[in-house]
Amino acid sequence: MAKQIKKKRINVPEQDPNARIHNFNEVALGYTWDLAVEEASRCLQCPYNYAPCIKGCPVNVNIPGFIKKILDRDIKGALEVIHGTNSLPGITGRVCPQEQQCEMNCVMGKLGDKINIGKLERFVADEARKQGIYPDIPQVEKKGKKVAIVGSGPSGLTAASDLAKMGYDVYMFEALHEAGGVLIYGIPEFRLPKDIVRYEVKFLKMLGVHVDTNVVVGKTYTLQELLNEYDAVFLGTGAGTPKFLNIPGVNLNGIYSANEFLTRINLMKAYKFPEYDTPIKKGKTLAVIGAGNVAMDAARSALRVGYEEVYIIYRRTREYMTAREEEIHHAEQEGVRFMFLVSPVEFIGDENGHVRVLKLIMNELGEPDSSGRRRPKPIPGTEFGLEVDAVVFAIGQKPNKLLYQEVPELKTTKWGTLIVDEKYRTPLKGVFAGGDAVRGEATVVLAMGDGKKAAKAIDEYLSGEEWPAEIKPASFW
Ligand code: FAD
Ligand code: SF4
Ligand code: SF4
Repeated sequence: MAKQIKKKRINVPEQDPNARIHNFNEVALGYTWDLAVEEASRCLQCPYNYAPCIKGCPVNVNIPGFIKKILDRDIKGALEVIHGTNSLPGITGRVCPQEQQCEMNCVMGKLGDKINIGKLERFVADEARKQGIYPDIPQVEKKGKKVAIVGSGPSGLTAASDLAKMGYDVYMFEALHEAGGVLIYGIPEFRLPKDIVRYEVKFLKMLGVHVDTNVVVGKTYTLQELLNEYDAVFLGTGAGTPKFLNIPGVNLNGIYSANEFLTRINLMKAYKFPEYDTPIKKGKTLAVIGAGNVAMDAARSALRVGYEEVYIIYRRTREYMTAREEEIHHAEQEGVRFMFLVSPVEFIGDENGHVRVLKLIMNELGEPDSSGRRRPKPIPGTEFGLEVDAVVFAIGQKPNKLLYQEVPELKTTKWGTLIVDEKYRTPLKGVFAGGDAVRGEATVVLAMGDGKKAAKAIDEYLSGEEWPAEIKPASFW
């Protein structure tokens, strides 16, 4: 008998917006077993070699494979299938832009709603964690070679996990006091609870990876010292240096980078001050400049630490915002106010040097720029002021140069990102790089994909592949 098509997707329950703006608990509550099985039963189980969802996933998770295991109520089996290519499912299930990746091509879209792949992936990881289940540790022969991983974000975590599974001795160095990169210090608790990141890092340690925190490579050790000690080095140092606008008043107190604002809240637990000793300035009105995921995170965090009016200040219109639709929708539900077609021109401070007014100018949209988006053009004579107690810049980040500036062999692009070839090799023999350090700001799963491919390339190098005389820049920028 033909399979009955269930057109409507099963959505996950969510915390009520009025309640959740007063807490940092997760917004999306996740599936129960019954809801997960119901959603899984909608999948058409496309054959592995054809399934378009797998092709849309940057790490090629076997999606019909793990969904079938959910239907069998075999959580360990589902986890093993996902871990075949993705060692961070609790994270990707929550923060991947699934609507542009795995879910985009789901054939169910032609018959009804696409399968809720991300939420099913998250369910598997959460259920496994609840039951204390980890994937099996592969028994591999040791290679007798050591690899250093610099940075513990998703690119470093993935490279470390894959290399450990291949039999290398892996040593990870992280500048901050906790491993996880942006997953720990950037993305807020209400989108990605930190226990989930810690659980995934714990599995890495179970694989035998040594994780050394509070180590700044470039300061605590030089890159050359690592090269003397290890057979290869992977740089997964991310893009943590904030960008600001060069306009009058930008150095006033009360103006933060999103990085600093979110780190204070996530890593230093400023929202629990004075229980934790890092304060965050609280007031009535806060403006966030920018319209990506980082801006949404900053705005929604500001509401939760007590700001009453939070504005997103964006120079184009809603359709050009780069944040995920789900994040914009959640921000709207929570009462974040959006000001479109405006650009900051100046900050005006009070007698104590604290920002008090954000001066804005109105824009109209002109011709498309090189990104294909219509360029905002200021309209003369339309300046106006917005009274603020704090401002957060979320207009992008670039890699920190600390590590590379004294290593002339490493080359960077005009955006400050590291130049590598298609095999993630830098011009310095034995040194590989990937993730945001190479791409600029990208996504968790792209960083993971880089870590994965770099691990394979490191294995090939340590198995005897020649280092090229010249590095031909890769084409993924
Ligand atoms: P990172 O995660 O940046 O990690 C790099 C690590 O290297 C850091 O821990 C840093 O401390 C460490 N490090 C740097 N220099 C040194 C050094 N010299 N020595 C030792 N350690 C060093 N992506 C999504 O897919 N979905 C989202 O919803 C999403 N939301 C985001 C929200 C925010 C607030 C931010 C900032 C980013 C978001 N992103 C999101 C982007 C995503 O998090 C990044 O693309 C991803 O984390 C990049 O991974 P990475 O491994 O390259 O580097
Ligand atoms: Fe989809 Fe991301 Fe999971 Fe791939 S890793 S299946 S893109 S949620
Ligand atoms: Fe299931 Fe959609 Fe993937 Fe087909 S494309 S296997 S229906 S998730």
